[in-house]
Formats: sequence, structure tokens, C-alpha cells
Amino acid sequence: MKACVFYGPRDVRVEDVEMPKAGRGEAVLKVLRCAVCGTDKRIYTHGQKNVAPPAITGHEIVGRVHDIGAGVKGLKKGRKVLRASVVGCGKCIYCKRGQLNLCDTFTAIGYEHSGGFAEYIKVPARAVIQGNIIPIPEKMNPDHAALVEPLSCCLNGQEYLQPQKGERALVFGAGPIGLMHAAILKAKGCRPVCVADVSAERLEFVRKLKLGSPVMTGNDPIADILKATNGELFDVIITACSVKSAQENALKLARKRARISFFAGVPKDDPILPLDANHLHYREISVFGAFASNLRHMKQAADMIMKGALPAGKFVTHKFPLSQIHKAYEAIESGRGIKIVIDCESKQ
Ligand SMILES: [Zn+2]
Ligand SMILES: [Zn+2]
Repeated sequence: MKACVFYGPRDVRVEDVEMPKAGRGEAVLKVLRCAVCGTDKRIYTHGQKNVAPPAITGHEIVGRVHDIGAGVKGLKKGRKVLRASVVGCGKCIYCKRGQLNLCDTFTAIGYEHSGGFAEYIKVPARAVIQGNIIPIPEKMNPDHAALVEPLSCCLNGQEYLQPQKGERALVFGAGPIGLMHAAILKAKGCRPVCVADVSAERLEFVRKLKLGSPVMTGNDPIADILKATNGELFDVIITACSVKSAQENALKLARKRARISFFAGVPKDDPILPLDANHLHYREISVFGAFASNLRHMKQAADMIMKGALPAGKFVTHKFPLSQIHKAYEAIESGRGIKIVIDCESKQ
């Protein structure tokens, strides 16, 4: 079969590799689509500790059950499915609580395990037992289904925030994740939903997809945002960009009883944030972290896309066959478009 093999930073090759076989407890999926994530781009440009070359990356996968190993129950060949990435150990306290994303020793498909930039993918036994293969309706558009994984991460983040109808919301960052957050906030009835970014080109998507009010920020983001909102603060704030100053600004733009999600991580070498504890205390402000997602968020995200609550068709701005995956990396590096999907079925 064909696969895109990562040999090291900026060295990926589409080549023939051995077709995976389903051993006991395992399953093999035919990959229909695999969307390209910001993390895939980061691995492509810098590599990553848990991706040992030669490796196949890609974790936003839609497929069809192709082969089922001995002892696997509840899976049907030919069924259209999604595949959750995180594989928990099954033993730690978090796994027992169903919080696989917080497992002390988790591994992930597309990182430690071979990913979806390939024609077929093997799902490890542990992941099969855990329920990582999630059936979706046959009629669900595979391009749209490829958005479920990133959307599920946003839903996990927002579960902590509980945005309410009529609340004022602000998202820092108009990348694919920031735009998805805006879409969820809008679907929940927040008003306004402001999306702040330094790029006019990215903010154009906010306008085009009718996700909320774009706010262009420059040297003084707080002043720019307050100017756009007549000085009003926010109830719900999400930082969807890896910039520490956005976290600091979020704290300053929070209304009393506001909930803030530090959704994006910040660079490892500079993660310490100055924090006015009394500001949080007297104003009853809550700050939450969020990392990856759980199986139930995947199901909620699939549901949201099926119901049309996310303009999924407009989120997929580029599609390339596996053989042209280089073009996908080029597009994502240049910051063009929103989501880029690899069509792994295409024989092109
Ligand atoms: Zn992703
Ligand atoms: Zn665990």
C-alpha cells in the first residue's frame, strides 16, 4: 500500500510500505480521509519526541472497517467509522474514569502508532477494546467527518466553560481551532462572539463563515478589543493560539465570574505566567486547561456536524490526494485556508 512516511524534519516520502494485517484483537481500516492538524505540521517541520522515524503520522482519520482480527466484537466490515487517537493504558485512575486523554502513560495513533496518511491503518488491540473505532452514519460526508477530531478537542475545552446563551465570548486566534471554537460559541447562543487575530486574511474567514465579529489586533490587543466592544468585558474567553501574551490579555479582559480556557499550549521554554491572584479571587474568575478529547466528545462532535451546526463544507478549504501531501504541508505552512484534508482513497 501507499503511505506518507516521515523520515525527519522536512523529509516525507510517499512510498510503498507493507500492508497492515489485523492480528488478534486488532482491526485494519481503509483510510478514506485524514485531515492535516497543526501538530502534523509541527512534526513535519521540527519532528517530535513521540514520533520515531520512519513513521506514518496523521490522526484526524475517517475510514472503513477493512479487516477484523480474531476476538474482536461489535465491528462490521465495510462500516464507515471514525477513529479516536488517544490509547489509554486501561489501568490508571484516569483511564478507569474514562478520561483517556489524561492517562498517565497514554500513546496515540498518528504518533507512537502508525497514523492515517496511508491507504490503510492498523488500530491496536487496546484502542479497539477501548472503543476508539466509532461508527458514523453512511451518509456522513467523509470530508466533513475528518473535522470531528479537532472539533472534539474544542468541545472538551468548552465543557469546562459552559458558555450560556447571551454571554459575551472572545476567542484569541482565527486558525482552524479558533474558528471551530467560534462556531460552537455561536451555536450555543453567545453574543457577541469576538475573534481576535493579527492577520486580516485569517479574520476574513470569520466574516465569510459568519462565525462572529472579527477584531484585528496590533501592538495593544487589549485596547483594540475594548475599542471594538465599547469597553465591555467577556464572560467566556478562549486562547486558541500559542502566545503567552494572549493568556495574560484574557485575564485582563475577563468579566466577573468569567471562565477562561487556556486551550492552546505555549512554547515549552517560556510557560510561566504572571498572575494577579486577587484579581481572580475577588472577581471569581476561573481558568481551565484542556488537552485533546475523549470518546464522548468525538460522538458529540460527529453529532454537531451531522446536524449542520458547524459549516463543515466551508471549513474544508483544500483537499489533496495522498500522493500530493507535500502541497498540503506547503498550504498549511503558508497559513492559507482553514482545514486541509488528504484524500487517501484517490488513486491520483
Ligand atoms: Zn489534530
Ligand atoms: Zn491510563
